[in-house]
Amino acid sequence: MRYQLSPVTAQFRDAGTERAFRASILPKVQEDSWLTLIVAAAGMAMFSISDYGFLGLSPEFYVLLGIRVTLIATCLVLAFVLRSSDALLTRPWLLSVAPVMIATGSLSIIVLRPHTLTTQFIAVVIIVMAFYLFSPILLWGMIGASLYLGIGFLAGAWYWGDLPWDTVRAYGLLLIMANVVGYVVARRLARLQRQQFEALNEERLSKQRLMEEVARREALEKRLRIMADTDELTGLANRRCFLEQARTAFGAARSRERPFSLCMIDVDNFKAINDGWGHDCGDKVLREVAAACLATFREGDAVGRFGGEEFVAALPGADMADARRIAERLRETIAGLRLDGPLAPVRVTVTIGLAEVQPRETGLEPALKRADAALYRGKRSGRNVVLEMTPGAG
Ligand code: GH3
Ligand code: MG
Ligand code: MG
Repeated sequence: MRYQLSPVTAQFRDAGTERAFRASILPKVQEDSWLTLIVAAAGMAMFSISDYGFLGLSPEFYVLLGIRVTLIATCLVLAFVLRSSDALLTRPWLLSVAPVMIATGSLSIIVLRPHTLTTQFIAVVIIVMAFYLFSPILLWGMIGASLYLGIGFLAGAWYWGDLPWDTVRAYGLLLIMANVVGYVVARRLARLQRQQFEALNEERLSKQRLMEEVARREALEKRLRIMADTDELTGLANRRCFLEQARTAFGAARSRERPFSLCMIDVDNFKAINDGWGHDCGDKVLREVAAACLATFREGDAVGRFGGEEFVAALPGADMADARRIAERLRETIAGLRLDGPLAPVRVTVTIGLAEVQPRETGLEPALKRADAALYRGKRSGRNVVLEMTPGAG
């Protein structure tokens, strides 16, 4: 056990834990006390039959009847109050109101019916046991009520019932036994309930920890996946991720018999930019080109950094004419880029190679090779151009 229990009451030593425990069993305690109070009220009503048998319609009978009606009414009012409010949570002593009332009522019976002490004694023992059994959260209150009832009964029996001292002593010993047994059972019950509460809490806590761990791992996995798919410098898909996206898009375009084109983009004379302005400025140019690509291509197009200063785009639904138009726009956009700071004098241009996937082709590789070849031709022809390659050509 993580929390310590008091050896006397079997309650949690920690007040906060005890409060949480009581809150957790409140609905059950409400239901139990409701039932107990109703049964007690019915029992008290029932015993007015024996009152009548012993006393007839005498004044004592009516006094007893009055006491019983008061007790029954108290029990019923308490039953409704306890069931319909959370009063027990802040005022657990309410649970001992009925026992004290019942004890007082039982004692008053001795005064009015002193010649039926034996049956009353049995009733007292039963009531004492009942107090302990129905005391899941208020052991002290039940001990108090039981002692009050027991001692009151013995004193009343001795004083009003003229019970011989020997019998009073025997009754006293029996009552001590009833109290000890009741207390031990109640304490065991209280301990079991709290152990169960703690086991449940532990389980809930470890489940929560597990959920947190799962969420942490999922977030980590997501971050790793993004890292594995993304080019750190430009934020575009890297080569592997691009090929994956392009293949998926190609499969979809093929199943709908739509055209599919590829676009290879290479920054012209990039080495000179690196050499003249430094690697950091070169990186900035790469980011600008990537941004221009993202702004030019459509939502469903796949765009990636193929490596170094080379970019690639897959254009589902675009035939060669569409691809030419889009690529031309990109080339112009990049040629028109005006960089700020030390890069202001730099004019960035790109050469673009195009290829359309042919109906008989089942993969992207032949078209990629053609686009690359077109790009190579573009470089030789002077750069800053868009060139295409059809199968069988050049
Ligand atoms: P061409 O017009 O024929 O394409 O000439 P180029 O200079 O662009 O081509 P080349 O292949 O000679 O040079 C590419 C350079 O790109 C060489 C390499 O150092 C540089 N590079 C590759 N990756 C990066 C990068 O991440 N950042 C920077 N700043 N430079 C890079
Ligand atoms: Mg280049
Ligand atoms: Mg290159």
